[in-house]
Amino acid sequence: MSAETQHPFTTVIGLEVHVQLQTKTKLFCGCITTFGSPPNTQVCPTCLGLPGSLPVMNRRAFDLSLRAALALNCKIALFTKWDRKNYFYPDLPKGYQISQFDLPFSYEGHLEICDPKGAFEPRTVRITRVHLEEDAGKSMHDEAAGTADSRIDLNRTGTPLCEIVTEPDLRSAEEARAWLNELKLLLVYLGVSDCNMQEGSLRVDANVNLHIPQEDGRIAKTPIVEIKNMNSFRSVERALIYETERQWGEWQATGAEIGSMPKQTRGWDDSAGVTRGQRHKEESSDYRYFPEPDLVPVTVTEEQVTKIRSAMGEPPAVLRKTLADRWKLPANDASVLVNQGPDLVKYFEDLATRVGEGKVASNWMQQDVLRTLNERGGNITDFPVKPEAVADIIARVQKGDFDTSRGREIFVSVLEKGTSVAEVVAGMGIAAVDDGDLQALCEELIAENPKIVADVKGGKEQAAGGLIGQAKRKNPNVNPGKVRALAIELIRALP
Ligand code: ZN
Ligand code: MN
Repeated sequence: MSAETQHPFTTVIGLEVHVQLQTKTKLFCGCITTFGSPPNTQVCPTCLGLPGSLPVMNRRAFDLSLRAALALNCKIALFTKWDRKNYFYPDLPKGYQISQFDLPFSYEGHLEICDPKGAFEPRTVRITRVHLEEDAGKSMHDEAAGTADSRIDLNRTGTPLCEIVTEPDLRSAEEARAWLNELKLLLVYLGVSDCNMQEGSLRVDANVNLHIPQEDGRIAKTPIVEIKNMNSFRSVERALIYETERQWGEWQATGAEIGSMPKQTRGWDDSAGVTRGQRHKEESSDYRYFPEPDLVPVTVTEEQVTKIRSAMGEPPAVLRKTLADRWKLPANDASVLVNQGPDLVKYFEDLATRVGEGKVASNWMQQDVLRTLNERGGNITDFPVKPEAVADIIARVQKGDFDTSRGREIFVSVLEKGTSVAEVVAGMGIAAVDDGDLQALCEELIAENPKIVADVKGGKEQAAGGLIGQAKRKNPNVNPGKVRALAIELIRALP
């Protein structure tokens, strides 16, 4: 249990997430959105905000964000419009961002989290709204190079973003992290976003304050702080834990409550492990929102909503159940597999189909495939041992060619050498242990172990287990199951 839950207060957290939609082109122009191109090579008069240029909405971006909103159980507005959010910033050439203000295209959704291991209680997090907007460019401050240069890259300007705002329904840093994981998984499964945080495809801001019960029954609330600059879910968790403690200290020192000061923004410094005050937050009236005159409002029909809903695919929460049912898996197994993402589920289903037994395939996935994948890093689609090879090893274990621990050695060899299972097996000489050799080996063991022989003859068959280690030392290729069975048979036949 984390330290924060021992305090006499409730931590109240709401999240604001921006995800980049998986489109080829920007939201209001035809510029491509490929990440990592040389600065300012993916720009045009529209996304540069040059006079006379006009925006045209990217239909694909709108459909993808509709898909996200539906998956988040949101209500869809059949009429929605665009607004200008005015502010000056070097990376915003137009001087305003095209966003949605009072009529977002969706609202009032929810996304649940639960943990099969019970680390936290299942929780429903309400979603206030999901809207679509364009991204700004990127300022690059070249401090590391020792120069005072600041440059602007406008490749990102106009990239479609889906902004997802939650109600303050989260109660700990751990829950916030779990919820973000679930959101990311959902958006990846539905092909809405790649959610790559290193490339800025998913960005999180967190609003947090404390609710502190008073002796007179009143609940005191500390001023809400918005935390920015968190570039991993781990950072979000650490920043929230830090900020909870900071606000508790602040409360004890000053007793300042919400409303006594303007809303504050604090930036997370990951290496120092602290949040630092940045500025006082603008009120929405400071942005002087007004309807975007260059874009027509968007109308959505029930048919469009139905069409997108029916083509949506299974969200992770549903897939966990489907996978558990289809392959007769415990809930935790299904959860572990689904949480690794759609590519890994595909790998698992291929393997399970070949093996014909879900639980066996799941065990190999978790103990061998996933473990080595995590050690090596990289994606399952590039994993050198393919499902057919794992299935081949499992089939040979089931046939009794060798035992599971030998099978796992073979798995490692296939991984390291990049050869086939058959070649590895031949190279280890595993196929060479024939029945005659096995018989000779068992007879040897029986002659050398009078105590075990006596025990087995006396009815204690489990004593035969003592022969396995010795058998493997004599010949590492023997199958322990076969040794055990044959040894017992031979001992019983003794006079
Ligand atoms: Zn453009
Ligand atoms: Mn936004």
